[in-house]
Amino acid sequence: MDENKQAQLRRLPGVDRILEYGTNNQQFDNIPKTILIPSIRKTIEALRQIIMASDKALDEAMFALDALVAKVCDHASRAMALRLKRTINATGVVVHTNLGRSLLSPAVLDNLTTIASRYSNLEFDLKAGRRGSRYSAVEDILCELSGARAAMVVNNNAAAVLLCLDTLANGREVIVSRGELVEIGGAFRIPDVMAKSGAILKEVGTTNRTHARDYENAVNEQTGLLFKAHTSNYSIVGFTAAVGLNELVAIGRRHQLPVMEDLGSGTLVDFSQYGLTREPTVQASLDAGVDVVTFSGDKLLGGPQAGIILGGKTHIDRIKANPLTRAVRIDKMTLAALEGTLQLYRDESKAVQQIPTLRMLTMPLAAIASRAADLKSRLEKLADGRLRVDAMDLASKAGGGSLPLLNLPSRCIGVSVDGMSANGVELWMRRHTPPVIGRIENDRFIMDPRTLQEEELEMIEKAFARMLADKASKR
Ligand SMILES: *Cc1c(COP(=O)(O)O)cnc(C)c1O
Repeated sequence: MDENKQAQLRRLPGVDRILEYGTNNQQFDNIPKTILIPSIRKTIEALRQIIMASDKALDEAMFALDALVAKVCDHASRAMALRLKRTINATGVVVHTNLGRSLLSPAVLDNLTTIASRYSNLEFDLKAGRRGSRYSAVEDILCELSGARAAMVVNNNAAAVLLCLDTLANGREVIVSRGELVEIGGAFRIPDVMAKSGAILKEVGTTNRTHARDYENAVNEQTGLLFKAHTSNYSIVGFTAAVGLNELVAIGRRHQLPVMEDLGSGTLVDFSQYGLTREPTVQASLDAGVDVVTFSGDKLLGGPQAGIILGGKTHIDRIKANPLTRAVRIDKMTLAALEGTLQLYRDESKAVQQIPTLRMLTMPLAAIASRAADLKSRLEKLADGRLRVDAMDLASKAGGGSLPLLNLPSRCIGVSVDGMSANGVELWMRRHTPPVIGRIENDRFIMDPRTLQEEELEMIEKAFARMLADKASKR
């Protein structure tokens, strides 16, 4: 190493020096030691790296304690920033599992905050003055809305399926069509969950065709349950046959076997009224006589993450008595948010307006187009010659493994920036605070207004202004 470099390395201040300087100037007052010391070390190390990489002597200002302390504060504030943070979903995928699935309705937030920060009657029967059931908050309303006789809730639908299988079919055979052995994201696979529950999977039929006689032939004295899974994230088309719910229920009755259905996305609203393809409703499954139905709280229902189990009282009572229930117990904040969300369903038009997932799914194209026009004019107002903004007729997706083949017509905004690739724009937007998540199509960064919230158009405008300024300064 040459002498110049060595001389410069000797000038690097020690941790103590920076610590003392920043502390005396009260610049470290709000930084905990566990963050501060590593931040100082990183700052010194970064400067050391610059010295090592540079052929000439560094500017005097680089060694100034003020500058180094500012760098330490910068490091520290990045290290202390919340990791779970608000993100702008411009993907057009409404129930986006990676981005938090459903947004809670503002109508439920007041009670949610109160229940979270105050004591409540979570498991206390105020009338009787003794221990009560955690599920009573939502049991009645779930029955009222769905027509079920009994209900219970757990922390998600995967847990609901596991708990039901463990209760109803542990050590026994469960008959499932080969066309319904689904895998959803996050490693939830029906055969694996079945194995974990202690139930024995008995596959019948073929991938594309399963008949009533396939179920009939598979029933024996080991059979404990007939199981149907909603093939929520794919569809088998062409030469197909599946056994309908009514028929499956009839087979179950004939052999005195319970029938369970994992609806996955489960909806209480018939989407065909809003011009979307029909997604089987919870009510329809119960009407058909299915004994136990499970579905998610945060997919098409538009509530918090939860698993909802509906069915006959005998089955639900057995499920409630399973010790596994304690391990998949629903949290009080979830219960508060779920009860609030369910209350909105008493008036369906209100539910569609006030539950963000439903509102976004049923949003008229005209409303989306007007937002697209707003976003377009905001970006054009930046008056930057490098920016090209186009409205494009593309499609949104329901997501969350629901309405798999449905393309929701949408009007998107496609952006390209001179001197930047579409990937470059995507990366910059993703790393912005708040991150803006879009997609790339036709070499453009695409934003779908369907999943944007009102105030986010302005936030996107600002993000682009920052990006353009950033890129200009680095030219
Ligand atoms: C989404 C889904 C699940 C899992 O539900 P979570 O609430 O995510 O645990 C299970 N089964 C089907 C068919 C699904 O679509």
